[in-house]
Amino acid sequence: MIQPHGGKLIDRVLRGDARRDALESLKGLPTVALDADALSDVENMATGVFSPLEGYMGQDDYRHVLDHMRLASDLAWTIPIVLDAPKSVADGLKPGNDVLLTGETGQPAAILHLEEKFGYDKAEFAQKVFRTTDPAHPGVAKVLRMHDVLLGGPIDLIQAAPTPFDNWKLAPHETRLLFKEKGWHTVVGFQTRNTPHIGHEFVQKSALTLVDGLFINPVIGRKKKGDYKDEVILSSYEALIKNYYVKERTALAVLMFEMRYAGPREAIFHAVIRKNFGCTHIIIGRDHAGVGTYYKPFAAQEIFGDFPDLGITPLFFRSFFYCKKCLSVVSDKICPHGPEHQIQFRGTEIRDLLLKGQYPPAELVRPEVAKAIMDVQNPFNE
Ligand SMILES: [Zn+2]
Repeated sequence: MIQPHGGKLIDRVLRGDARRDALESLKGLPTVALDADALSDVENMATGVFSPLEGYMGQDDYRHVLDHMRLASDLAWTIPIVLDAPKSVADGLKPGNDVLLTGETGQPAAILHLEEKFGYDKAEFAQKVFRTTDPAHPGVAKVLRMHDVLLGGPIDLIQAAPTPFDNWKLAPHETRLLFKEKGWHTVVGFQTRNTPHIGHEFVQKSALTLVDGLFINPVIGRKKKGDYKDEVILSSYEALIKNYYVKERTALAVLMFEMRYAGPREAIFHAVIRKNFGCTHIIIGRDHAGVGTYYKPFAAQEIFGDFPDLGITPLFFRSFFYCKKCLSVVSDKICPHGPEHQIQFRGTEIRDLLLKGQYPPAELVRPEVAKAIMDVQNPFNE
């Protein structure tokens, strides 16, 4: 089994007596309330999805990640994992003391063992991580909305926020056990925030011909307006797997995670996460984790050249399309025919058809998948 990033799977979930003691010590602790995205970060740190992080980055790691795309230890890491707080709140917090992190309704979520608090430059954060300071970029907009002080230190999870998708949620120690039970030595991870069309299916199956197992890992969490609802992504994948995939070769679990839309940097982050789940390979397609036209179509593939020590192998794919001459799903690497023979998989066109209540052509979307989408009253985020 592939080693977790940094060599050790982090487990900072409080259980049994430790959890009971922690709950008893909460009274009087200063509190910082987290939104749903921040809660998913806490849970991902505690369950090892973000190994080797044990909590929010301090200034040293933060600076290294911005400047070198590595932690202070030199381990590859591209996205800052930080907790912001208003100056008025931060002023009342003392490094060395504990802080209670709660959900939006005040329920205890985790304890932060505060080690440091520090200021930061939002424009620099945005420019280095997102390669732009354009406030129209959703990741940049989020950074601009952040409070002025960052709090660093390890966390201990008291209680993960319940979600409607808990039955589809697996922690890295569980996926690793699952892969082992299935006898998979090599596993390719597929990151998605969409319902599957046949182009996705062929990318996944092409990758699966090279390895033992396929781990489909949709991101669940806040997404942009017009994106498919989380339950639709899940039900459409269940329909696809049931009808078209070899069950013994396929696993499906959700990842509670906030998309940053950081393109290349986020592609590396996605790879690290899948490595922690036990994947030996990850599929990186065109404009992975991108948004708009901020990143060149294959920038998220090229960046892997800077990380020969990543420890998980990226499998790069170009966009697939249906060729009427080849009579199959191909890419420009394997089909010599011109664009006049091609039917492209365009997510927006497929979505427009579905919005009108029409089934997309079977060359584009499996009918069972289209049905799973249409069965939901309103399949898109408003
Ligand atoms: Zn062709």
